[in-house]
Formats: sequence, C-alpha cells, structure tokens
Amino acid sequence: MNEENQDLTVGSPLSGWCASLDDSPDPVFSGRVLGDGVSIDPVVGEVRAPFDGEVLTVPESRHAINLRADNGAEFLIHVGIDSVGLAGEGFEAAVASGERVRRGQLLLKFDLEKVLRRAASLRTPVLLLQSGAFEVAGHRSEGPVDFGEALFEVSPAAGQEAAVEASGDGPEVAQTVAVGLEHGIHARPAAALIEAIKPLEASVFCQQGELPPANARSAVALMSLGVNYGDQVTVTARGQDAGKALGLVVEALKPLDESVQQEHFLKTAAVEPVIQAELPEAPVDGAVIRAQPASPGLARGTGFRLDAEVALLDIKAGSVEAEQAALTGALEQVRNHLQQLAETDGGTGAEIAAAHLALLDDPMIADHAAYRIGQGGAAPLAWQDAIDRAVETLKRAGDARMLEREDDLRDIGLRVQRALAGEDIGHGPEIPDGSIVLADNLLPSQLLELDRDRLRGICLAAGGATSHVAILAISLEIPMLVAAGPQLLRVEIGSELLLDGELGEITVRPDGPVAERFEQRIVEDKKLRQVEQDQSHAECRTRDGARIHILANIGSAQDALAAVKAGAEGAGLLRTEFAFMDRNRAPDSAEQLAIYSRISDVLESRPMVVRTLDAGGDKPVSYIEQQAEENPALGVRGIRLGLENEALLEAQLRALIELERPAPLQVMIPMVSSVHEVRAVRQMMNRLGQDDRNTPIRLGIMIETPAAALIADRLAQEVDFFSIGTNDLTQYTLCMDRGEPRLANRLDALHPAVLELVRLTVQAGDAAGIPVAVCGGAAGDLMAAPVLLGLGVRELSMPGSLIARQKARLRMLSMETCESLAGRALAMSSAREVRSMMREFVLAQSAPGNG
Ligand code: PEP
Ligand code: MG
Repeated sequence: MNEENQDLTVGSPLSGWCASLDDSPDPVFSGRVLGDGVSIDPVVGEVRAPFDGEVLTVPESRHAINLRADNGAEFLIHVGIDSVGLAGEGFEAAVASGERVRRGQLLLKFDLEKVLRRAASLRTPVLLLQSGAFEVAGHRSEGPVDFGEALFEVSPAAGQEAAVEASGDGPEVAQTVAVGLEHGIHARPAAALIEAIKPLEASVFCQQGELPPANARSAVALMSLGVNYGDQVTVTARGQDAGKALGLVVEALKPLDESVQQEHFLKTAAVEPVIQAELPEAPVDGAVIRAQPASPGLARGTGFRLDAEVALLDIKAGSVEAEQAALTGALEQVRNHLQQLAETDGGTGAEIAAAHLALLDDPMIADHAAYRIGQGGAAPLAWQDAIDRAVETLKRAGDARMLEREDDLRDIGLRVQRALAGEDIGHGPEIPDGSIVLADNLLPSQLLELDRDRLRGICLAAGGATSHVAILAISLEIPMLVAAGPQLLRVEIGSELLLDGELGEITVRPDGPVAERFEQRIVEDKKLRQVEQDQSHAECRTRDGARIHILANIGSAQDALAAVKAGAEGAGLLRTEFAFMDRNRAPDSAEQLAIYSRISDVLESRPMVVRTLDAGGDKPVSYIEQQAEENPALGVRGIRLGLENEALLEAQLRALIELERPAPLQVMIPMVSSVHEVRAVRQMMNRLGQDDRNTPIRLGIMIETPAAALIADRLAQEVDFFSIGTNDLTQYTLCMDRGEPRLANRLDALHPAVLELVRLTVQAGDAAGIPVAVCGGAAGDLMAAPVLLGLGVRELSMPGSLIARQKARLRMLSMETCESLAGRALAMSSAREVRSMMREFVLAQSAPGNG
C-alpha cells in the first residue's frame, strides 16, 4: 500500500492500445485541461482498479469513475469520448462511491460495441487530476497494454503549492441557478468551469442541496456533486474577482441551448475557431420566400411573430411534497381544460385535445417528472426535463411522422408550464387584426387559442406538412405554409405579406401591382372554392374528357370517412403502419381483420388498396427486433423486413385474405426492388389459401425505388397494378433524406430525373395493360399533377383535404396541354426549372376569367 504523499505506479485499468493523450479526439483531454495521463483504446469492456484506493464518484451515467489512491492523488478514468450521452446505457458499475478497492478489482463493465457505435470514440483517458500536489512521469509509450501493466508514475510535486488556494478576502456574492447542461456536471463542463475561473482571484464554490460545497477549481469535487440537468446549484464566490467568477460559472451552468453551445465551444475551441452558421439576410422589399404548402388558400395580411416560450430561469424548489402537489394540481387543471375541449369543440380541435389527454397521462413522462422532483427538482424543471426526455426518445426512433408528435409533446409541456406559472391556459396572446402569424413552429393549442377573426394565415420556418397543427389549419380553413427556413424569422414584424398556400410562397412587402394581382386572385379563389365544394363528389374528367380517378391516402376508418365525405372515389393507399405503432406487440390476424373490416365498411364498394406493413428503417416498430443500421433508409425496411419476419407478414396477409368486401381488394407491397420479392409474397398468399376467396385479391406494388422503376417492364409481368410513391422515389433518386429539413426545398418530385422514372413506369404499365397510379405527395401537388397526367398517369391518391381542389384544377386542363408540359419538363435540367414553368402555368390558370 502507498502511504500518503508517496510515489505511486499506476497500473492499467484497461486492456487495449495505449497512446499519448495528445491523440485524444477531445481537446479537454488532449489539452490536459483536467490533468495528465494516457489514453487507452480498450479491447475488453472492463475497467479495473489501477491501484489500492477509494472510489470517489461513479456518476449516474456510469461512463466514468473518480478514484483516490492511498497516497492522496486523485484520478479520472473516462470511458470513451462523449459517452455521457448514452445515459448509462451499456454501462454497469461494480462498485459505489466511498467503497475501498484493491488493485485489479473490477470497477465498471461496459458494452464495447454500444459505446463504439454511440459515442464519439472509445479512447479512454486515464489521468491524474490536476491539483498541483502531484506530477506524472514515465508515461508508457504507444503500444498494447494489459490490465495491471504500468502506465505512468505519480509522485509529489517538487516545490509546488498543494491545490490552488484562491484568496478568500472581500465580499461574497452568490446566485442559485438551474443547471441547463444537458448531462449535468460531468468531466467536460467541470473542465470548462475550472478553465474559466483559472486566472481569477476568487474562491468559488458550488453547492447542491445539503451536500457540502464543492470547490469549483476541483474536477473531482464538482463531479462528486452528481449534478444533473435541471438541478439547482448555488454558486458562491469571494475575493477580488468574485463578481466576474460568479458570472462565468453561472454562464457555464446556464440553460440548455447556451450550455450545449458552451460545451461545443470548449470541444472545438482548442482545435479551430467556432464557425457560426451565417444568419440569413433579412428579406428585402418584394422578396419571395419559398415554403411547403400545408393548408391551401391565399392570404394578404401583416406579419406577426409568435414564439413558444417557457421561462424556466431562477426557479427555486420547495419541499418534494410541495413540488409534487404543484405538478399534480397543474396536470389536473390542464386535464380538465383538455377534457372540456374534447367534449365541446366537436371538430379536429376535439380530436387533438383527446390525443393530448392521452399524452398527459403517459406514465413515462409522469414517472420521470416524479423522479426528478424526488431528487429535489422544482416542478417546472422536472416537468420540462420529462418532456425533453420523451421528445429525445421519439427523436431516437427517427420516424419523421412520429417526430411530428414532438409538437404534441411540446404542446402539453407548454400548457402544464403555463398552469404551473399560474397563467390562464385557455387564452393565447392578442394578435392584431389581419395577422399572418410567423413562427419557428406552432403548437396546436397555440393555434386554437388565437383569435380566428383576426388571423389570416400562418407561415412556419420549421414544421411539417402533416403535423397536427397543419391538419388543424386545414380544418379551420386557415392558409398555412411550413418549412420556410430561417429567413422567415428575419421578416420584420408589421410587414405586409402575401401568403400563397398553393404555390408555396410568401411575398414580403410586395409592390403595388403584385399586391393588386394577388388581390384579384383572392377574389377568383373564393369563387373557385365554392365551385370546388359543389363539385367535389362529381367524377373528374379533363376538358377533353380523359377520366382521372381521384382517391385518398388514409390510415384509419376515421380518415376513410373524412375522405369519402371529401369526394374520394376510394382509398388509393391505406398505410397499415398505424395499426402496428404505439403498442407492445403486433396486432394478430383477428385484430387486423377487425381494423380492415371497419375501413372496408366505410368505403363500401369503393376501391381499397391496402399496403402491407412498411416498417423498419425510419419507421421502427418497437417489438420487431432489428439490428442497428448505419443507414436505415437503405436498410431492412418495407417488404425486406416483411420477408425477414415471415410470421408478421403472414398474420397480415391472413387477415387480408379473410377480408371479404363488395369490391375487389387490392394488396400492395412497399419498397420493392426486385422481382423475387413479389414472387415470395405471391407464394405466401397462395400458401395461406387466397384461392379460396370469392373474389381474387389483386396484388400490386409501390414503385418507390429507382430499381423498381428501371425494371418496371419485368415487374409488370408479375403484378396487377403499380402505384408510384413519389416521396421515396424522389428521396432515393436525388439521394436526399426526406426527413432532412435543410433539403426540404430541394426534395422535389418535379426533378426531371424523377419524372423520367415515372415515364418509364407508365410506359411499362401501359405495355402490360395494368393501371399505374401515383400515391406520393406529387399526386396532391397542384403544380405536379398536370405533369403526371401528361406522363400518362390516370389515377391520383392524396390526402382527403386536397381532393376537391385538385379535382377542380384538373377539370380545367386538356390532355394536350398536360402532354406538352410533361414533354418540356422531361427535357429540362432541374426541378427548379420545371417548378418555375409550372408556377407560371398555375398562375395563368387561376387568372381572372379562367375559372
Ligand atoms: C411514398 O413513398 O411516396 C409513399 C406514398 O409512401 P410513404 O410516404 O408512406 O413512405
Ligand atoms: Mg414510401
């Protein structure tokens, strides 16, 4: 055993490859901000004691351990870089704080593969924490190292002061702050704090609850506090630079966004200056900002900024009982309010309120909030943390449609915060008459609380076209655009705006003639709307008599009902994923049969195209075991997943085979890329007895991979129909992730390359005599539909809300015009060119006198 202040040989706590700390990818470690030592790339997922000593701290995330050797020197072993984000997943602690350990004893176990995949690096710094009292010598040179082999020597520092003792004279200043660091005070923020106050003349301490104050110049002391996100920490500083030190420490502990930036800054500062994303220019007079249409219509009005904010600073926690009671009371208040909305609103607002009620009582959120309060957190911070965690879980799931539920979570998050703050949760902010609301994002409750008599339109910098708030805007007939990008937020409040929910653009401070033309379009649009509604149920034929079938994309019996009411001729795409999500196990055949029968009953004798489960990749289903994929969009998804999980697909096909209906049932396979997938499904259906049905099932496929479009002639020999999924076909053809907001404006099905694949598909379908539909987003796009018709498509399936308008527009076309537009589009070289041609076309079409 080493005595106090004796020399010490540090044995390797890991087995792996030893290297200099210079090689550490994290500047905190390579810059020796916390201390000196070595870095080890482990090959065994175990950390063993490098000497006899004591465990100082094992953080909740178990990704690191602090030890004190018997000679008094303190050490940090930090498994991997940025591994704190795993939140303990894959880590197991074999010891606890305060425990005595013997050299070679197992301290931590970790899942090598998980850390490797999820952390920035596996390289593990093993270091003597800087205190001035000890120094490191004789670092092991680069090469393999096994448990217990000598890494370096530690000896008392010659002629140096023990630990930095800052002067403690002068007045004391203090402040309590809610820690906004995403992962609490772990190694890196501790290093940031120490660095920040290093040159200052002040003694600084951080205290949490009843624990003794921790010296802010000691990494171990700071980490020993076990501070998590949302915890209250009191910072005290005394001495000549006390005020400055206090400011710097509070700054470093501050709320999430800034703290994350702070962490990021520290990470990159030593390597390169921080590169700030350039702020977009404020739009000039007459500027046109492009966005995605989410709710149709035209609006002229004045820009008004609205933001979802919750002020969570300087909140002090009372007793656990008081905080829990406050949260319970706020939840009760919000529950009553939502129940009232669900019962009295009657429309989409009621449905959304019902969905929010379910989320409000989600045990994962409630349990986490209670846990946080139990740890001494204030109710607002505990609640916010629980909401953030739930959002994070959804984000990790990665499905764009599930992601849109983030808005719903944020929405209940905001309502409860407002109730906790004693605000009136039924009323939103006052908006001026004739407002076009501009926001980064808008929550359904915020929209519901706005004075609709004063609201003309909505434009969001972010947001999705299928989010709840968009659905709500459609039902309230409020024109709305989404994904306008950050430039929108530079629009001056009070600017005159023209919002075009058809072309997907917003014009800022237009000149007189532009505003006048827009005003005329508004008048024409009103007339057209009436005609649209009157004729929404009539069949759709172009001016020269071509019959165009207009169907709806649905996900439930409720959607089916809305679609039929909106004039759909049937369901061109039933996305069955929804029956499989939000549950712990797959629905069995009987359950599925019940779901499909309800939908079929609503559709009566109308066509019904049921797509088999399109899960996997970006639409994960929790109970289907899937290996992590580097690139899920290109992974085991759609039919690939179905064929790997035969029981799942069989259960679905069995339900469909049992579904008898008055019109033929169409079954459609997603994500097909080769003929053998179709044959495999057909064989399965034969094996399951599809021949026993009264009416045969028609089997078709989605054309949504370039491969399927390119071999469409061969696929056409195997199936009864094609339906083109332009969403995925565009993503795969342009190699642009459909969920990436920065690419949203370029992910355009009107790209000539996508159109060429549509042309090939239609050609193959025609040659084989099978129908070709389009069920992706292009079908409902007023600018894309004429081109699709020109390429020979005669069936379009789209959200029910777009049907009346699309039918009315198609009736104004002639096939000759469509073919000419398609021919020109195919010869163009970019989506932008095609879109600008179509923009002119739609504008001319909607000009006065053309209605
Ligand atoms: C498509 O890819 O166009 C499509 C309709 O399928 P989903 O959007 O469900 O992937
Ligand atoms: Mg698809």
